[in-house]
Amino acid sequence: MDDRLTAVLGTLADDEAAWRDLSALCALGGRFAGSESEAAAIEFLATRLAEIGGPVVSHPVAYAGWERVTSVLEAAGRQFPCESLVRSPATGAAGLAAEVIDLGRGAEEDFARAGHHIAGRMVLVRHEYMFATHTVHRRRKYQWAMERGAVGFLIASHLPGDLLVTGSSGAVPGHGIPAAGISAETAAELFAGTERYPAVRLRIECRETRARTENLSLELPGRGEEWVVLCAHVDGHHLAQSAMDNGTGLAAVLAVARALAPHCGGFQRGLRVMFFSVEEWALAGSRHYVERLEPSARDAIACVLNLDSVAGHPALTALTSGYPALGPFLVDAARSAGMTLAIHQPIMANSDHYNFAVNGIPAARLVAGFDRPESNLRYVLTPADTLDRISPRELSHAMKLTAALAFHACQAPELDLRRGAARGA
Ligand SMILES: [Zn+2]
Repeated sequence: MDDRLTAVLGTLADDEAAWRDLSALCALGGRFAGSESEAAAIEFLATRLAEIGGPVVSHPVAYAGWERVTSVLEAAGRQFPCESLVRSPATGAAGLAAEVIDLGRGAEEDFARAGHHIAGRMVLVRHEYMFATHTVHRRRKYQWAMERGAVGFLIASHLPGDLLVTGSSGAVPGHGIPAAGISAETAAELFAGTERYPAVRLRIECRETRARTENLSLELPGRGEEWVVLCAHVDGHHLAQSAMDNGTGLAAVLAVARALAPHCGGFQRGLRVMFFSVEEWALAGSRHYVERLEPSARDAIACVLNLDSVAGHPALTALTSGYPALGPFLVDAARSAGMTLAIHQPIMANSDHYNFAVNGIPAARLVAGFDRPESNLRYVLTPADTLDRISPRELSHAMKLTAALAFHACQAPELDLRRGAARGA
């Protein structure tokens, strides 16, 4: 192994700052975009980046802000806890009264089978493990519901334990139906009676505003013109601490940047460290950044390593976005440091790497627990995404693996990860 990489891995093995960073971020709250918690986290990250060295650049992002006020579900004279999905439209003070149709998981065939029974009703679907090959994303279920004329959308946790579930709805101002997450127990209670389509009233209050946030970057230049982007998203949800998603990515990016910084001047490529916000807003922060890059600036990015939910299970997978050369390169880089990495090549629109990948830039997301529905990552987007679900060992492993990948991406004399990709640069 290269002596510099040995030194970097040694530094990371003794790094106690990463766990402190993760704990500090969790203590600031869930970092919901537009909240004080998000602003405090951005300030914290900017300070930590500045300590690594070099100017920290703030990239302002304007977006359609949305603030949750209240959400209540009533049925049979009782009130049930629920959590409006991000950007759900409000229902008005009287609420939305409708019958509920249970579509089970809410896969495409479930919608097809229910056919014309959906129109005019509120659909109920299930949340599912998000980090898996065959996951059907909540936003697709929401789109199918709207296409078939549903008037509202309920998504129930697939886990027992009175866990509410949240996430983005995919609604945009002027186009959406009210949407809320409920627990598995509430879903069962709604259907405990004899009615096929129980009647409910959903009341959602929210505030829509024009909002601003920022992305952050720090450049650690190499010898040449090219860059490797190492990034993670800042924002989360206020049901919990957003510890796994994505406190782990933030803490690991900081730790790897700190450990690599003394070596970057000698690398072929520089390391551009980035933190994006409004990721939970259908990837808005990174889209804002990538869309504004000149073609030459896009060409100068050799690859992107996006860390999103990198602890909660010891096994790590790289989602390599349809770039066939990227997987083998990353697997070799991991192997050089005595570690293993699984690869999932199809493009997945589930984090910021997607916006780079669809714009011709080889981009991977590192994620823990892919296709491991028993892992602690099943608690992401619930009140149980908390620090105690993560082991320091898992975080440390993610840091070392990321360091090995970033090291090889920065120092390889030649690197063409665009070759063989269906979409050109
Ligand atoms: Zn995430």
